[in-house]
Amino acid sequence: MSFDYDLFVIGGGSGGVRAARISAGYGAKVALAEESRMGGTCVIRGCVPKKLMIFAASTPEMIDEAHGYGWPDAMAGAFSWPAFKASLDAELDRLEAAYTRGFENAGGTIYHQRARVVGPHEVELADGSRISAKHILVAVGGRPQRPGIEGDELGMISDDLFLMEKLPRRVLVVGGGFIACEFATILNGLGVETVLAYRGDKLLRGFDRDGRELVTGQMRGIGVDLRLNLSPVRLERDADMLRISYDDGSEDRYDAVMFATGRRPNTAGLGLEEAGVALGPAGEVVVDEWSQTNIPSIYAVGDVTDRVNLTPVAIREGHSFADTIFGDTPRYLDHSLVASAVYTRPHELASIGMTEDEAIARGGVEVYDTRFRPMRSAFAGSEMRVMMKLLVDIDTRRVLGCQIFGPEAGEMIQLAAIPITMGATKEDFDRTVAVHPTIAEELVTMRQPARRHDRPA
Ligand code: NDP
Repeated sequence: MSFDYDLFVIGGGSGGVRAARISAGYGAKVALAEESRMGGTCVIRGCVPKKLMIFAASTPEMIDEAHGYGWPDAMAGAFSWPAFKASLDAELDRLEAAYTRGFENAGGTIYHQRARVVGPHEVELADGSRISAKHILVAVGGRPQRPGIEGDELGMISDDLFLMEKLPRRVLVVGGGFIACEFATILNGLGVETVLAYRGDKLLRGFDRDGRELVTGQMRGIGVDLRLNLSPVRLERDADMLRISYDDGSEDRYDAVMFATGRRPNTAGLGLEEAGVALGPAGEVVVDEWSQTNIPSIYAVGDVTDRVNLTPVAIREGHSFADTIFGDTPRYLDHSLVASAVYTRPHELASIGMTEDEAIARGGVEVYDTRFRPMRSAFAGSEMRVMMKLLVDIDTRRVLGCQIFGPEAGEMIQLAAIPITMGATKEDFDRTVAVHPTIAEELVTMRQPARRHDRPA
């Protein structure tokens, strides 16, 4: 049977583009459909613009620090959102063009419209045309979900933040995960009066217990008005503001509200169920370790599969798919050890592997734990402390986890992730000579465990 294409990819984000480009490089005839902008969530409305906003938001604390370093007159002046946004828009245009070019130069074809699956080997485009392909790869990502309360359509989601024409004066961020913490930090740094309401008692559920405590404290320290154990129940317009009613009976008014209450796989209206593709309870595409669905010709990678929802994971899944199907090199991604970082400010929280809660539950773990004031900010008078932890298996001596709260913790965890992925032992860390003076050197100079969690009897 002959097909129009060897591979049809739905979704031009990180995972889809990587799979499409590598497959085309192997000689496959590949097409890709994207209804929005090439680059997807990470490039257009996620990691990339977010990180640039973090850089913008960290300027005031750099100025503060400069005062301690003999620049008494240093001052930031006013932040101009329009000036920043113009540069941001230009950068996103550049990246979008690079994504498009990279795939087209590899010989791929892009359909700038929505596609849906109509059969094991067939998709239908928004213009009604049908295209056949030997393999279909679903890489449509996820989308932010609102909490389902009265009037929640009046609030923004993270996508909207990058499109704002002007900054709000006072904003409410709802949620306590990655996006809520990062955006509360950003908006605060840009001079917006920021309130963060979270239904739990400590931010960043699932992260290391001490890291969560430290992020919560830092959030307050930088001036975010943190309201824990509190959930909005209703939003209403109130002149040019929004009135929010909370579950404790209180009310407050904001210029804008942003919901960061999680994301859902983007499978609605994609024709997958009708085509017989199994979906999970959150609408995620169910796949095996090869990213293959129950329909053998249909695969899925990235957030739409709701495995580990991070860009580099989607990229690796997409690349592995291409290697396996078109590159004659079967491989799949081991999701068990993936590093990540939450870009709060001034200290980030970065993590790989075991947290202390997991160590307590499992037992047989030594915890090496250090806290210190880093040279640079301490000199400028800051009381901020870094936390570094290594979680070590008592029997095998393998380092099972690393948790870092500190400046550029994301950069540090990336490097620590290499030996930890290789299976390094604590003794491998110990025989590594430090680079002095750095923050990261503490990772190789912790000699005595701070505590030990024994196996349950
Ligand atoms: P998260 O799953 O990280 O956090 C969602 C937050 O919303 C949690 O605090 C959750 O509370 C809360 N929540 C969920 N439902 C409701 C509700 N109905 N009412 C009130 N609160 C609610 O999702 P995010 O949206 O922050 O981010 C989505 C994903 O994107 C992340 O999981 C991550 O994979 C990825 N991401 C990664 C980044 C990075 O690598 N730096 C940056 C941004 C996003 P509770 O904890 O109590 O359930």
